[in-house]
Amino acid sequence: MTLFEKIIAREIPADIVYEDELVLAFNDINPQAPVHVLVIPKKPIPRIAEAEPDDHQVLGHLLLKAKDIAGDLGLQKNGFRLAINNGKDAGESVPHLHLHILGGRAMTWPPG
Ligand code: 5GP
Repeated sequence: MTLFEKIIAREIPADIVYEDELVLAFNDINPQAPVHVLVIPKKPIPRIAEAEPDDHQVLGHLLLKAKDIAGDLGLQKNGFRLAINNGKDAGESVPHLHLHILGGRAMTWPPG
């Protein structure tokens, strides 16, 4: 069971900001911006590279909910970044798909 499955199962505590039948969102334990939320599918898809055609509903839902959560957290006006780290070179550290919502400060581009 991955760390994030344990958070879904409430075996590990997290500061949950949104939940429904398909996704869970919680504050990142090591925030890289004033707002740093992770949105994860409850289905344990390891990473976006391993998503399948049947996952299109949950993936669409993940993006739409990330947009709603960003709005609820006050990021609509100044903007926000959505990021997915896929694999070693991207710095992926938890093998359960997660979408980072980052906001509350100006971001640089390209990312490091
Ligand atoms: P990645 O580097 O895989 O894209 O992102 C994993 C994220 O999970 C990191 O930003 C890291 O801070 C966060 N994280 C790791 N362990 C925990 C935890 O136990 N609780 C929470 N809330 N976030 C975690």
